[in-house]
Amino acid sequence: MASGASTVHGLRRRNRARVLWDLYLNGPGSRQRIGSAAGVSPGTVSNVLGGLMEEGLVLESGLVPSAGGRPSSIVQVNPAYGYVIGVDVGESSVLVELFDLAMGVCATNRSLTELTQLSPADVVTQVAGGVHAVLADAQVAESDVLGVGIGVPGLVEHSPLAVVHGQSVGWDAVPLEALLREQIALPLAVGNGAKLLGQAEHWFGAARGEADVVIVLIGQGVGASIITGGSADLGPMSSAGEWGHTAVSIDGRICRCGARGCLEAYVGAGAILQRYEELHGMPARTGDLERRTDELLARVDIDPEVAEVVDESVRYLGAGIANLVNVFSPRRVVLGGWLGRQLAELRMPEIHAAAERNALRTPFRDVTLLRAELGADAVALGAATLPVSRFLSSGGDREAVLGATATSTA
Ligand SMILES: [Zn+2]
Repeated sequence: MASGASTVHGLRRRNRARVLWDLYLNGPGSRQRIGSAAGVSPGTVSNVLGGLMEEGLVLESGLVPSAGGRPSSIVQVNPAYGYVIGVDVGESSVLVELFDLAMGVCATNRSLTELTQLSPADVVTQVAGGVHAVLADAQVAESDVLGVGIGVPGLVEHSPLAVVHGQSVGWDAVPLEALLREQIALPLAVGNGAKLLGQAEHWFGAARGEADVVIVLIGQGVGASIITGGSADLGPMSSAGEWGHTAVSIDGRICRCGARGCLEAYVGAGAILQRYEELHGMPARTGDLERRTDELLARVDIDPEVAEVVDESVRYLGAGIANLVNVFSPRRVVLGGWLGRQLAELRMPEIHAAAERNALRTPFRDVTLLRAELGADAVALGAATLPVSRFLSSGGDREAVLGATATSTA
């Protein structure tokens, strides 16, 4: 049974968490806005903000005129209070970024890799090297870092340390977090890269402010970040979706994962290039997949053969989006990832029409399709939301976060 003291402590922590989440997701604001958004009384807001200001976590950043005459002050999270690091373990590079608490980028380190050929031990060395490099670049002490979030391709299992199952890149139950902990002393949190890109889009991009939203991520791989009932109250809840490996054709084209007929085998960048090469007897060209795809898509308006391949992808993409709409009833579907954003720019009306043809009328009626605002390089930003999220939910308890050894459940 909880003692009176721990109940009071818990209530205080929850109120601080509510105020911090509101300031974080809704930006600087007046005490009045914070109180109504966070659902706490004016007295509690003043009390909580007083404590947060004393600790330097929140600061006053201006005044707004108020109806009563006396202007009221605007408060915001202090960007300089602490730092977080976001890591994107991508299929062609490891990107490490250091952010202040307002998610301003302070330093960046990118090292090239080819994950299909790279051992987990090499990735760990690159991540650790990148973390030390950004701290040295920005002259930030390790003790000022609230945590490191790492986005990886594949499914992340927390048991309790993060284990990565990246079937398409040949990672089978890699104990990534345990390996990272041998080289990095900071609090760590590992999550699926596609899901984290979705989280970045939800916090800062086209999915902002919507509680029921699906963010579709298309690049070489295809995934979806599904957010249902997300609220700024305790932070958005989201679940990962290996949407790219749902079947859209029985006994269809072979997928990177080994199965047949996956959505990724029709709408992923590799699939689009391969389809074009098959149809037109072109030899497989070498070079960066993204650049080759960009070159192909640049010809879509002048080359009917390219248009044919893109239009076929769009039909499968529409069917895939319809499946998501029928299952999750989102209010918004955001098309992201480097290829997803391009397809949205080139073919949004056709994607919408293809989804509409395949979806049930009722859930689809309420859906808005949007192009993502953030680029694919926002995986590191999304990864950095993991330690931020943990910090906000702790009510801004630095000691608790820095002492944490439990893994994130993200
Ligand atoms: Zn597959």
